Amino acid sequence: MAVMKFGGTSVGTARAMQQAISIVAREAELSTPLVVLSACSGITNTLLKIADASGRGSLDEAMALVGEVRSHHIGLVRELIPSAESQAVLIPRIEELLSRLELLVKGVEIVGELTERSRDMFCSFGELLSTTVFAAAMQAAGHRAEWVDVRTVMVTDDHFGFARPILKECMANTEQIIRPLQRAGTTVVTQGYIGRTEDGRTTTLGRGGSDLSAALLGAWLHESQIQIWTDVDGVMTCDPRIVPEARSIRVMTFSEAAELAYLGAKVLHPDTIAPAVEKNIPVFVLNTWHPDARGTVITNDPERLSGMSYGGLVKSIAVKKGQSIINVRSNRMLGRHGFMNELFNVFARYRVSVEMISTSEVSVSVTVEDAPFSQELLGELREFGQVDIEHGVATVSVVGDNLRMSKGVAGRIFGALAEVNLRMISQGASEINVGVVVGLHDVPVAVSALHREFFSGDDAAGIFEVPAGKA
Ligand code: ASP
Ligand code: MG
Repeated sequence: MAVMKFGGTSVGTARAMQQAISIVAREAELSTPLVVLSACSGITNTLLKIADASGRGSLDEAMALVGEVRSHHIGLVRELIPSAESQAVLIPRIEELLSRLELLVKGVEIVGELTERSRDMFCSFGELLSTTVFAAAMQAAGHRAEWVDVRTVMVTDDHFGFARPILKECMANTEQIIRPLQRAGTTVVTQGYIGRTEDGRTTTLGRGGSDLSAALLGAWLHESQIQIWTDVDGVMTCDPRIVPEARSIRVMTFSEAAELAYLGAKVLHPDTIAPAVEKNIPVFVLNTWHPDARGTVITNDPERLSGMSYGGLVKSIAVKKGQSIINVRSNRMLGRHGFMNELFNVFARYRVSVEMISTSEVSVSVTVEDAPFSQELLGELREFGQVDIEHGVATVSVVGDNLRMSKGVAGRIFGALAEVNLRMISQGASEINVGVVVGLHDVPVAVSALHREFFSGDDAAGIFEVPAGKA
């Protein structure tokens, strides 16, 4: 059986919900899926604005935004549920959620303080609303579906804004609440992202947390697969806006997915699917708008990997823009110990996260997120020697598990990049990525050249798929 998670754009409009429902209905003919939903796209952001406005005491602004949330969801109901009778049942349920939201707005406005705790409460309405509409629309279309408040299952710690489940309780709740419904052949529709503490306070798992909810529920139910439905054709060989020939990757390992995410690709966050991967449950990334395309499967299962001709040297090319290089040049480094420690301590004290590093005997280059650096930080760095900064650069990385075992990769990378001015070079310690830093204007040339080198011809045979609709 499958957990099917639909992201914000897959439930954001009536047309998207209809499409998602037809995908669920098709799966329901084979098994009894568990459906996990995000809030409609944009709604979590609106709720955060409502929270901030309430905390600032801007009641009118907050109420106007609640009005937007209301009209969006009532609009969905009117489009998705034609019968006046069913509307008459559903609209009061939506209104009840909205009046709780309004109460929260007023409460926070009166207290004049927005806590992490109340912020989570605000955010929870997005998923509560989307699932309420979705489950009702499924029922109205004649499917056997039931809405479940995930907070009765997902019991978490009280780390508001980034809560984590208390496994034993969650697993027991899953057996008690979800399993019987599934056994009876009912499609459960529930919320991603939210949970509840042991004493009943609403929590969230952090932005983008719905994927984690899906992976956790899938692991607890011992499902055979997790499907993450989004609006792209799985994980791509590179950003299709840079290289139109980008293709979707059929299969990748968990470490490749993790590396790609850290290196800037907009893949799902690897930590969120870890619970599934640990249990050897494959995670499929699929496109709601091309349901018949095969998408990408992320798995460490050797059988699945070999069954899908898991070859290919490079899996994907990731780009991370908005970086800068800080170069520290110092004769004091030569033959001394403790230098690196002192240098990185400075970055740590100023809470600047260092991403790529490259060193020689007399200089250290690091990339960090581009920002106007504080004079104090620069002052401390200058105590080590000469400091040069280059703003507006990007890291371009090639990633693939097979890089580890292959000869001649570096030659091919640098051959392909012969025309590009490389500002820094680094091979990741995991040995599954090689990264270069280039000026922003060189990104398209660098990515296209690498894509041509590694994704045309034999390298790509059998592993990739032209996205549906583009074939
Ligand atoms: N709705 C939440 C967010 O926008 C959770 C999610 O979509 O995964 O972050
Ligand atoms: Mg998401």
